Amino acid sequence: MSGIPASAFSPAARLGRIQPSPSTAAAARVRELKAEGRRILDLTVGEPDFDTPEHVKEAAIAAIRAGETKYTPVNGTPALREAIRGSLRRTHGIEYSDAEITVGGGGKQVIFLALMATVDAGDEVLVPAPYWVSYPDMVRANEGEPVIVATSAENRYKLTPEALEAAIGPRTTWLILNSPGNPSGAVYSEDELAALAAVLRRHPRVSVLSDEIYSEISFTGAPAPSLAAVAPDLRHRVLVVSGVSKSYAMTGWRLGYAAGDPALVKAINTLQSQTSSCPSSISQAAAAAALSGPQDFIARTVPVYAERRDAAVAGFSAIDGLEPLIPDGAFYLSVDCAGLIGRRTDDGRTLADDQDVTLYLLDRAGVAVIQGSAYGRSPFFRISFATDLGTLTAAVDAVAEAVAALR
Ligand code: PMP
Repeated sequence: MSGIPASAFSPAARLGRIQPSPSTAAAARVRELKAEGRRILDLTVGEPDFDTPEHVKEAAIAAIRAGETKYTPVNGTPALREAIRGSLRRTHGIEYSDAEITVGGGGKQVIFLALMATVDAGDEVLVPAPYWVSYPDMVRANEGEPVIVATSAENRYKLTPEALEAAIGPRTTWLILNSPGNPSGAVYSEDELAALAAVLRRHPRVSVLSDEIYSEISFTGAPAPSLAAVAPDLRHRVLVVSGVSKSYAMTGWRLGYAAGDPALVKAINTLQSQTSSCPSSISQAAAAAALSGPQDFIARTVPVYAERRDAAVAGFSAIDGLEPLIPDGAFYLSVDCAGLIGRRTDDGRTLADDQDVTLYLLDRAGVAVIQGSAYGRSPFFRISFATDLGTLTAAVDAVAEAVAALR
């Protein structure tokens, strides 16, 4: 290794508390195998396979041509904030004031800043499992303690009021609620949210970070309900986080937002002013067009996701040892694989956990999925059906064949 100097890099302690996002690690493994020339049916991807709607792209191009290429206000352009307020009014019937809106480089960044603005060392954040991979590490990176709250299949992996009550302690700062959920696809009904609200009323220090990034990708016929709308008296304690990535196929534009207590929003803006100053002006123009323009893209794509969901549910249900949980929203399917644990591969290895199952499916079937342990619940794996029906059905067939080869 001559010629390469030893690194003088000395990581901060907080870096030791976190890991790179496992979904990104899975994507890297898939890229490696593809580079080796293997054909991989990739069901790991957490982003729509659709292209950004044309009118949105046009709005971005027009913004560039009009010279909207400078810094914007930290909390976004007035046009974007107005579009966000309109979207929240349309989906949830909630009227937010301008001072209650903040924007960032993706919902992910907004969540991170919200935690950074509120969590002190040792503060606890309740994270129902299965959870989106990033929540616990975002809490840890901000020196908080994620408290993982178990859910059960009987409750369709949703937090119950009893489990919430039992998990709240003197240091609890936040509850993170994610509906529709990644990876479960579970959607909390208005009644379920009202029952959680009843518990929260007894614990005035606990706020709720309501991650609603998939709210419009809902198969129930209406956007997933928001706690902020169901319990208006708690509205100032609920930070609604959303973005354009999923609903409008705009993951690469990096634009997310949040709505909540003006004091919290102001604190997030202060941090934003010292981190990115503002999200890309061009992405803001695009997002404003997505949120305030025609909504036919959502009306067109949700039935496509629903068709794929039905195909995936039917396909995986028919495989002995696998049990999918029918999702009511988002574009993920959690498949319980307890029935495969303990089975043996034809080269004599025993599948001990969902990591083994995932590696087996990748090697033997050429199908990439993500193991449940990444989401804090085992044994299962997550597939994404944000991919074409052909790939999905080919993957189901390949998994069926690989499972049939187990002993
Ligand atoms: N929340 C959840 C539950 C997600 O799955 C994602 C994307 N994977 C995000 C937030 C963040 O999305 P973005 O940063 O692209 O807005």
